[in-house]
Amino acid sequence: MTDTIAAIATASGRAGLAVLRVSGPEALSVAGHVFRGRPPLSEAASHTVHHGWAHATTDARCLDEVVAAVFRAPRSYTGEDVVELSCHGGRLSAERLLAALVTSGARLAGPGEFTQRAFLNGRIDLAQAEAVADVIHAETEAAHELALAQLAGALSRRLDALGDRMTDALAEVEARVDFAEDVGGVEVPPHVVDLIESVRGELNAMLASAAWGRAIRDGVRVPLVGRPNVGKSSLFNALIGEERAIVTELPGTTRDRVTESIELCGARVTLSDTAGLRESADRVESIGVARAWDTLEESRALLWVIDGTAPIDADDHEIARAFAGKRVLVALNKSDLGCVLAPRDLEPLLVDARWSAAVSVSAVRGDGLAELRAALAQLIEAAPADGAGAQRSIALANPRHADALRRGAEGLARATAAAAAGSPGEIVALELRESLAAIGEVTGRAVDADVLDRIFGRFCIGK
Ligand code: GDP
Repeated sequence: MTDTIAAIATASGRAGLAVLRVSGPEALSVAGHVFRGRPPLSEAASHTVHHGWAHATTDARCLDEVVAAVFRAPRSYTGEDVVELSCHGGRLSAERLLAALVTSGARLAGPGEFTQRAFLNGRIDLAQAEAVADVIHAETEAAHELALAQLAGALSRRLDALGDRMTDALAEVEARVDFAEDVGGVEVPPHVVDLIESVRGELNAMLASAAWGRAIRDGVRVPLVGRPNVGKSSLFNALIGEERAIVTELPGTTRDRVTESIELCGARVTLSDTAGLRESADRVESIGVARAWDTLEESRALLWVIDGTAPIDADDHEIARAFAGKRVLVALNKSDLGCVLAPRDLEPLLVDARWSAAVSVSAVRGDGLAELRAALAQLIEAAPADGAGAQRSIALANPRHADALRRGAEGLARATAAAAAGSPGEIVALELRESLAAIGEVTGRAVDADVLDRIFGRFCIGK
């Protein structure tokens, strides 16, 4: 991190302003070569802004009118000297300015490099750095609020507090190992086991929020699947509230996937209308059918549309064979015509599904749509689970965090089991240390370089 990096921090396109960022030990002199104004940037105090003109360094051509904001180390976003140059938006001002900064000695920044430097310089922890990307990528207000809470350190503070309690437990266990004679034995005392169990309980409570957090952060894809002519396109249209998919009386009209997103309980749900699942001699239709099968197999959650006026047939049984381990919501459609099928008729076909529910609807009349939307929110795990509401600002939205905390909780369970079995304190201490390390991965106290590369590679340039 000895070099000075520069990038355009704003999105490209015509806009009032664009912002360039320069960070590193030479930030003031690099930007100072390009910026002409009073005082020269090398003399500017930290946290001040200055009006001036940017010039090319090679031939002194004027590039744009700019405002320079100066942040001196360590009180800056990255913890290094930083200059932010605001110029006019549009394609050329920012690009020509960036070229001038590079000629003056800056290197083009990689994706997320500013935030990576902020993390490496201890300005923010890893969970906060990831939250920066989540704030930028958020597509619903709920996702945005969750990311902001994480950016403000809500998750980090909670984990630091849990880490402190685990360290206390570890210190007591290790003290007993080291000074067994003074404290009268190496067994782990009950109050330490209680402490470990209470931390484990809190981790498990946080893990209970992971499905919800993930649905909010990443959204969920839900394809509508089923036989031809059961009303998939009609239901798709009814759910998205506009005529988009093609509806006809001829089976096999939806040959490719049509996709649209709606917001349910703060989560982005991407619905897709797929081709009806049946054997087809038509080459184009059979490609659509093959894609529909692929979609079905790839999906975690499905909306299975059934024509409630007709009995279950062999095709339905074949479709249901692909449901093992998935979350499946059944829409018993065409209720306006009087259904011969009831939700319980479907139960034998859903025994292998991980979660299932059935709702009667009429896509053409709109009956049952509110119930279907509510069940859809449960399908994608965005509906409030019992008692999960209170902890939402620190929900585990990031699968990397959930994975680390799961390993942390497992380590604590092993520590308690070892203590209960009367194992030597060393064993309990070993489990506690592993568990602490797993939890430390979230805030980046203990994390590998390749994990960091993967995390910051997801960022945009200039962030
Ligand atoms: P898909 O092939 O599964 O996508 O089915 P479509 O949405 O194209 O619908 C097939 C036929 O069923 C069309 O004639 C629709 O008007 C009709 N249909 C769809 N949903 C309903 C419903 O709820 N009630 C009635 N009466 N007809 C429906």
